[in-house]
Amino acid sequence: MQVVSLASGSTGNACLVQTPFGALLVDAGLPQKTLLARCARYGTLPEHLIGIIITHEHGDHTTSAVALAKRYRIPIYTKPATAQKIKIPANVTVYSLDDQYHTEILGIIIRTMAVSHDAVAPIALQISHDQITVAIATDLGEWQPLLVPFLQAAQLIVIEANHDREKLRLSSYDHSLKLRIASPTGHLDNIQTGALLSQVGLDKNIRDVWLAHLSREANSPGIAIQSIRTVLQMHGCHQYFRTITTLPPYDCVAWGPAQRMIQKTLW
Ligand SMILES: [Zn+2]
Ligand SMILES: [Zn+2]
Repeated sequence: MQVVSLASGSTGNACLVQTPFGALLVDAGLPQKTLLARCARYGTLPEHLIGIIITHEHGDHTTSAVALAKRYRIPIYTKPATAQKIKIPANVTVYSLDDQYHTEILGIIIRTMAVSHDAVAPIALQISHDQITVAIATDLGEWQPLLVPFLQAAQLIVIEANHDREKLRLSSYDHSLKLRIASPTGHLDNIQTGALLSQVGLDKNIRDVWLAHLSREANSPGIAIQSIRTVLQMHGCHQYFRTITTLPPYDCVAWGPAQRMIQKTLW
């Protein structure tokens, strides 16, 4: 399995999960042309896509999802309420994801878990193939204890580290937007993400982390990594995170089990 972040942040989110049997897109929050060009850079053409998973209906996750699905006859996998919200036309195949049951697509197993975010049915995901699991949780205002074992199943965790509390307070965002972002149905700040990862690290398994959905105005890669590292050190579990990498808003980043063996700790 190879995982490629195609974009991450409030201007667009999309992640490609590649296996020898086909590739899945997790969210499609980029213009179609850009998204396909980035997939092609990693050897995935539209005909290789066996599904588009949609985590929730916000535009930064869905911009080209329906158009891609329609044009290339790719099925969409999402929660029924989300499907209804994004108005998927009748000629696009939609499969419902259910938190109680896993979904299998050509040997790829998908599991979902409801998260707290201001969308109709937002989900975190586990995608597994050939004993490798990636967990993706990019939009959540607070985390529940059940999310810890959900993330512990993964060798790569893609987790939101949206903002620094102080930078958000001082940002130019209007008051209502600041309140929305910091609310339990908004986005995780660096300290909340650090606390979550420190619980994940209790199992002492070695894993990699991608910090996703960083706010460009209310966070920075340096602040996010430093804040989270401090929390992990306080809990004595920083050594279990082999790499912690911030995802850039526009560039691609790739991860694979083989690459993981040679990657050096970035901090
Ligand atoms: Zn969202
Ligand atoms: Zn988002």
